[in-house]
Amino acid sequence: MGVNANTPPIAAREHTVESFTREFLRELNFGQGVDLDRASENDKYLALARTVRHYLMERWLETLRNQYSDQAKTVAYLSAEFLLGPQLENSLLAADLDGVANEALAALGISVDDLRGVEIEPGLGNGGLGRLAACFIDSLATKNVPSIGYGIRYEYGIFRQTFVDGRQVETPDNWLRLGSPWEFPHPENAIEVHFGGRTEAVTDGPEGARRWVPAWQVMGIPYNYMVPGFGNGRVNTLRLWSAEATKAFDLQIFNSGDYVEAVRAQTFAENISKVLYPEDSTPQGKELRLQQQYFFVACSLRDFIEQVLPADYDLANLPERITFQLNDTHPVIAVPELMRLLVDERQWDWDAAWAVAQKVFAYTCHTLLPEALETWPVELLGRLLPRHLEIIDRINEEFLAQVRAQYPGDDARVDRMSIFGEHPVRSVRMAHLATVAGFRVNGVAELHSQLLADKVLSDFAQMWPDKFTNVTNGVTPRRFVRLANPKLSGLITESIGDGWITDLERLRELEPLAEDAEFRRRFREIKLANKRRFADVLMQRDGIEIAGDAMVDAMVKRLHEYKRQSLKLLHIVSLYEGIRSGRLPLDQVTPRTFVFGAKAAPGYYMAKETIALINAVGSTINADASLQGRLKVAFPANYNVTLAESLVPAADLSEQISLAGKEASGTGNMKFALNGALTIGTDDGANVEIRKLVGDDNFFLFGMDEPAAATLEADGYHPHAFYEGDRELRAALDMISSGIFANGDASAFAPVVSSLLQSDRFMALADFRPYLDAQTRVEEAYADQEAWSRSAVLNVARSGYFSSDRSIQDYLDRIWGAKPVDQNR
Ligand SMILES: *Cc1c(COP(=O)(O)O)cnc(C)c1O
Repeated sequence: MGVNANTPPIAAREHTVESFTREFLRELNFGQGVDLDRASENDKYLALARTVRHYLMERWLETLRNQYSDQAKTVAYLSAEFLLGPQLENSLLAADLDGVANEALAALGISVDDLRGVEIEPGLGNGGLGRLAACFIDSLATKNVPSIGYGIRYEYGIFRQTFVDGRQVETPDNWLRLGSPWEFPHPENAIEVHFGGRTEAVTDGPEGARRWVPAWQVMGIPYNYMVPGFGNGRVNTLRLWSAEATKAFDLQIFNSGDYVEAVRAQTFAENISKVLYPEDSTPQGKELRLQQQYFFVACSLRDFIEQVLPADYDLANLPERITFQLNDTHPVIAVPELMRLLVDERQWDWDAAWAVAQKVFAYTCHTLLPEALETWPVELLGRLLPRHLEIIDRINEEFLAQVRAQYPGDDARVDRMSIFGEHPVRSVRMAHLATVAGFRVNGVAELHSQLLADKVLSDFAQMWPDKFTNVTNGVTPRRFVRLANPKLSGLITESIGDGWITDLERLRELEPLAEDAEFRRRFREIKLANKRRFADVLMQRDGIEIAGDAMVDAMVKRLHEYKRQSLKLLHIVSLYEGIRSGRLPLDQVTPRTFVFGAKAAPGYYMAKETIALINAVGSTINADASLQGRLKVAFPANYNVTLAESLVPAADLSEQISLAGKEASGTGNMKFALNGALTIGTDDGANVEIRKLVGDDNFFLFGMDEPAAATLEADGYHPHAFYEGDRELRAALDMISSGIFANGDASAFAPVVSSLLQSDRFMALADFRPYLDAQTRVEEAYADQEAWSRSAVLNVARSGYFSSDRSIQDYLDRIWGAKPVDQNR
């Protein structure tokens, strides 16, 4: 296999500057219809993107051919979000074309770097969860796993954040406006998806079958994206679905004679994939969101069964061919959908269908916050998907019978475990449905998986201990080291060869170099160069000026109370207050640039107030000449993958300060450690594992651990007592209340302050003193640059575990049972 008669082998496509130039100019002329002289930057970007595409295309076709002929077990990663980040640089890297492209275009007077700036990153995700999906499909391809990503092609991704008077303003992310050269629509493979209506009995069907008589339908149009592996010739597929009106709507135009109404109905259908919901960790139970979830899942299941599998495939063997990995509860409606496909549409017996359904789904839980666990009111679900509600009902009935048999007389347990909750209204608990149907349930870091089994899903873990497992998250070293940090990558490769890019544990070989003064000097030089590059980016992108050499202290992540940006802010205000009051001599304050990046969900009041407060504190501090520039607050708007790629390599200090027991894993923490930032962090999420690996001496741990936080909460937490008991905390909070950051308006940030003083749900005040002490340890450590860079090198050397390649290997071993298939056989 591999080489087909009508395609040249991969190596036959020349990777020469001449051939690249020829193809680029051809794309410019015949693809864009312009001469080089008249080409806009966008023309050049699109021509470059399409040229790179050519080089990946043969490998893509070959991967698809092999996948079809091999019929190997496949992983379908179902995710409502894929936060892909820019595609050009990653495609150049995967095709091994960066050098050739640079040279070819330079000869034409074009800079590839400039063209990278033209790309609008596909922001089809909110934050960590969506970025994880993007890292995973990269690793699946690089590890040669037959797999397909399924999701939604939102016309508008995560909103663009701007600040007006320091307050967040959202504008639509029209990422498709200049055309997307990375997607391949296939309207001929559209799939029809139904909604609404009612169900009725069937007299001739098997036991359990009903007929769904839906009220309306839409078409799902697949858009394919290439997912190239690194250096292995495999190109997997990401298939994102876009909603369009069906032919039925056109017919209605004729039938009803109401043209305008028919066109309006068309818009209604197309609304389904219009916009990504911008809530992260706090989903809103909106009807359109459930429509989105069912829409992409219904398309994906049918696509896999009808297009990927051979026509005569015996679905009884489905568990040998596929695992549908459910990325959080968003795709969980796939469970009743598969049952419906088998029982209603293929006349399977219920029990036979359930036996298959229980072997093909695995569920990844991403949270510990109760408000983040999705539930759907029965009223809504029944109205939109009446047949699915019936199926869920039956799954639940049979499941609860099992619970009653195993725990006779334990009604409380039955209520706790039911797929249906009753408060405040009768609702479907999607995490319970996923846990009942899934053959594995995994958390995303060791602590998180432990807490899932002990707390959030403990009844289920008691009943099915073997169902529960852990897979600690990871990040792709291609994007977040090799591409984001070319200088460090060069130094690593020079020292240990380039095997680390696909075998990140090999970074261990750098450990002895931590003792090598010359290596550390070069490491520092690179960090400094990365800071200067980041400073240039901030100036160009946001007009923000920062020192090129101060400590870069970064807290970038979604704005959420549990992540505790307000604790970071209290540290900054406390430093400022200390300097102003004379408690801290200015010359003893370490010059620092505090970098924030954070979007708030548009309806999340406290998060938005916190953003306004950070900006207000920043403006005041940045304008205060008495600080002589020693402290600087930079809050570039619209934190996204592109910005992460320039910030992370420049950072010295990584802030991972969530209340212990609240952050499931974090992945930002891994990106920073891998680029040689030291972490100041709580014992939470994957911080626990980072600290174990890099060592206590190279990590600034502070604050309550999870049991301590749980105890304090149970005993009754009184934030005001901490305010009363700590002079510096009081001074910092009072300074905010004084109005000094709001032109004297003392009421300006009262909601943030009173929320902290009165409830402080995530106990920032309780961790304030330990946090400040840890920051003092940071300053002392940073003063010894040799020791600091030794620690930084050890962070890099010991963080190889956090490659998403390792996560994927764990999924293969613990959950999927799929095997890598070598592409170049
Ligand atoms: C990695 C990443 C995240 C996740 O950050 P956490 O600190 O783990 O919450 C969010 N947004 C972007 C753009 C990222 O690249």
